[in-house]
Amino acid sequence: MMSGHIEHEEGFIPKFLLEELAEKGNEDAKRTLAGMAELAKKEKQVKKTEGQAVNNAFEASHNPKCVVYDSQGTGELRYKLSRKEGDALHNDQAVNLTFDYSSKTLEYFKHKLNRNSIDDEGMDVICNVHFKKNYNNAVWLPNQNQLAIGDGDGKWFINLSKSLDVVAHEMAHGVTQYVNHLDYMRQSGALNEHFSDVIGTAVQQYVKGQTARTADWLIGDEIVGSEFPGKALRSMKEPGTAYIGDRQVSHFSKYMEIPLGDDGGGVHYYSGIPNRAFYLAAMELGTDPAAYLWYTALQDRETIKHNAKFTDLLQALLIAGEKLVRQGKLPQSAVAVITKVFSDVGILLPVHA
Ligand SMILES: [Zn+2]
Repeated sequence: MMSGHIEHEEGFIPKFLLEELAEKGNEDAKRTLAGMAELAKKEKQVKKTEGQAVNNAFEASHNPKCVVYDSQGTGELRYKLSRKEGDALHNDQAVNLTFDYSSKTLEYFKHKLNRNSIDDEGMDVICNVHFKKNYNNAVWLPNQNQLAIGDGDGKWFINLSKSLDVVAHEMAHGVTQYVNHLDYMRQSGALNEHFSDVIGTAVQQYVKGQTARTADWLIGDEIVGSEFPGKALRSMKEPGTAYIGDRQVSHFSKYMEIPLGDDGGGVHYYSGIPNRAFYLAAMELGTDPAAYLWYTALQDRETIKHNAKFTDLLQALLIAGEKLVRQGKLPQSAVAVITKVFSDVGILLPVHA
């Protein structure tokens, strides 16, 4: 099987988990893998749609809206319009929940990050639910500017279309695409994954009224079914403990250059390192201030380029931290907290002679 350069996330459920499942003879996992390859091919062929061009089909205003389509088990996008702003409740729960979760994520972007939708220009958020049959994945399609969400096989994965985790994580991949296009491989890919987990968990805590101390810090816990060998896909608090065989690591001493064919060089394995640093920072600063700090750092395109490494994130956080302290948006202690939590996960700035 070919495993070339991956340009963007292929789905919320990492490919290596589906391959493991397919090896066990799960037909839905096999079909999902084939569907992911097909989708990636289509994405390459399609011409880039700018956010605003998609919006104009609905309204020329810059006030972002959520629109949910039902693919009705097909692989078609924007197949049947099911719910848009102002519509009454739909009789399909997946439609309503996806509408609510994408709306809540937009609300978080606006109120906590001061960002006007995914592109910061008010683009509408288009979600397609019931994408394909028993599809074990959900994905942000960067060229088509929309989300495609499957229903899961009902055993390993359930209800991807009913999970806030999934919607917020995928919308955050859209934000990263617009901000700095972090290459989806090795450390930059792990940072791309990391940022989606940061936003995913922050939105979830916001909606559920949790704090850093009361949250469970699990990613994907809502979508694992009874046959999945664990409680979630990832733990930001204790990377590597979410399920049997979880390969996430939480310290840079465990980082290795592995082949790109293996999870893009370990984008989901090594995102555990900055994830753990974020968890530690949120415990000190609070989740929302920490998320705002991370989001501010992400926008430092001078420091975080498309091929950024973990030390670049640390550098950008220190610059952003100092700025936010000066503006009174973070406590004086913030800069020391950043240095401390990164040192705890084995990431230090190189010392210049
Ligand atoms: Zn992701």
